[in-house]
Amino acid sequence: MCPPVRKAFERRRFEIDELENASIVLESTASTRVSLEAIREGEAGLNAHRQAMLNRVPEVGDFASFKRNVLELKDLAYLTAKTGDEFAILRGKDADILFHGSSTQCRFIDTLADMMSSHKLELVGHSHPGEDDPIPSQGDRDALKEIGQARSVVVSGRTGKMRAFGQSPFDEISWNDEKR
Ligand SMILES: [Zn+2]
Repeated sequence: MCPPVRKAFERRRFEIDELENASIVLESTASTRVSLEAIREGEAGLNAHRQAMLNRVPEVGDFASFKRNVLELKDLAYLTAKTGDEFAILRGKDADILFHGSSTQCRFIDTLADMMSSHKLELVGHSHPGEDDPIPSQGDRDALKEIGQARSVVVSGRTGKMRAFGQSPFDEISWNDEKR
């Protein structure tokens, strides 16, 4: 192969690689939505790891503790797709807590509420069942205010999209711009 042709060939190869990489990224975002939809419609089940999580908090109001940093916000989206309920991750010094909320809210009472108010547990995030692009409710903001926490994250059980939010809607404009 003479040099100029070789160069053109290499450049073309590079463009194809770039395109392939780009399509992988797009595919993985779309694939989250597709797998959440399959679970929501009952066409697919949770993977073993997430089913084991759900088995420990089968009913509304249940909570269970896991090793720290084992739970991810993405997991909440899948548990929500499966059940139609909200879920939350609370993180302490040594452990993560998975909470099973109702279809409309996560209501923390007693020990959990006390530990959140005294900053022993951080509300890492919670999921919403009905929104493609999750929007924090006034109740979500009030809860942050009540426990004195600056920010948390809401994740959609339909798309897996995440949004950081604070006590006031004005707090978060820059946070969510940063992430895009
Ligand atoms: Zn909420």
